[in-house]
Amino acid sequence: MSFNVLVVNCGSSSIKYQVFDMTDERVLAQGLVDRVGILGTVLTHKRNNGTDDVVIVKDLPDHTVGMKLVLETLIHAEYGVIKDLSEINAVGHRVVHGADYFSRSVLITDEVKQAIRDCFNIAPLHNPPNLMGIEACQALMPNVPHVAVFDTAFHQTMKPANYMYALPYEVYEKYKIRRYGFHGTSHYYVTQRAAAMLNKPLKDTKIITLHLGNGASAAAVNGGSVVDTSMGYTPLEGLVMGTRCGNIDPYIVIFLMEKLNMGSTEINSYLNNKTGALGLSGVSNDFRDISEAAEGGNPRAQLTLQVYVNRVKGYIGTYIAALNGCDCIVFTAGLGENAVNIREMICENMDYLGIKIDKDKNKVRGREVDVAADDSKVRIFVIPTNEELVIARDTYDIANVNPV
Ligand code: ADP
Repeated sequence: MSFNVLVVNCGSSSIKYQVFDMTDERVLAQGLVDRVGILGTVLTHKRNNGTDDVVIVKDLPDHTVGMKLVLETLIHAEYGVIKDLSEINAVGHRVVHGADYFSRSVLITDEVKQAIRDCFNIAPLHNPPNLMGIEACQALMPNVPHVAVFDTAFHQTMKPANYMYALPYEVYEKYKIRRYGFHGTSHYYVTQRAAAMLNKPLKDTKIITLHLGNGASAAAVNGGSVVDTSMGYTPLEGLVMGTRCGNIDPYIVIFLMEKLNMGSTEINSYLNNKTGALGLSGVSNDFRDISEAAEGGNPRAQLTLQVYVNRVKGYIGTYIAALNGCDCIVFTAGLGENAVNIREMICENMDYLGIKIDKDKNKVRGREVDVAADDSKVRIFVIPTNEELVIARDTYDIANVNPV
């Protein structure tokens, strides 16, 4: 009997969705509703049967109306992929912040929703739209299990020695200020794939995962458990990202607030949207544009790539020390899967640590492959991530033990 899972990822002005048939984990359809709550909402719906994408332009005031349109599209007589909503057996929701409440995916109850709400102040950009999506879906599909899958969950194995900041202990007790880490679903997925590629039991592996997308984070994973990760209390910490600076001297924040006359809202938006590769290069937040500009001789674009790469190299070194070794480094997400030049720059001059890339093998995009030189002690894997599949699998497993 078929079992279909709808995977939903609600951002502040977008809804991403995929429908999986879990009998063979096939994706039946996927899509994106962009500009929810802004005039000119666009729904792009793709069926996996070789037909053209369906594009619907309509003003949608909020996520509930947006979700309603997604469901109407899924059951549409012409371009739908299921006959009616009873063919959706469970819904999996991506939730960014679960703080220390959740170390695994859970069936959504009123208590779970309250915990997601309790994290609003530490994830103001993400958790409110995530919860809006959950409530919209529950209203439209009240009779199926809804499951929450948290970006923070996989990192919950970190020990205090890695997740505590050197701040007065009271702020940890009072405000839960500690490092949490994000992109956990992606780090989890590629860790599992990497262990398979190493042909080793997961428990015997030491893996460094590099999720390099618009947001970027690294993780050190020992025997399948996260030891350390680069994002912290929020997704601002760590690597240089498209529009986020990652690690900086904290005094700079105070200085800029004074000099540029910014309040907390302005500095938050500035650090999240105006810094990182965009701010440093002045070219773009997209590394394709920055790489092109660098090749064309733009010195700031060249500098941006070098700063970006140096930060990643630093984390690799730190994590090899933390793990006391390393079987493989995994490149994933938009840049990790596609940016041949950046992978090469990151692995350059790392042979002292046993890391040697094969430049020819590395000329690959979006495929699961080992790009290390034959004599490299550390394997270097490119692994396309699949967070939606992890969400669908967790949802399927939880729905089967908790039928509504
Ligand atoms: P998100 O974090 O939004 O999910 P992705 O993982 O899709 O982002 O990564 C998107 C980013 O990946 C783009 O902004 C771009 O910088 C980078 N990217 C994608 N393809 C390439 C490429 N061929 N070369 C360099 N960078 C790329």
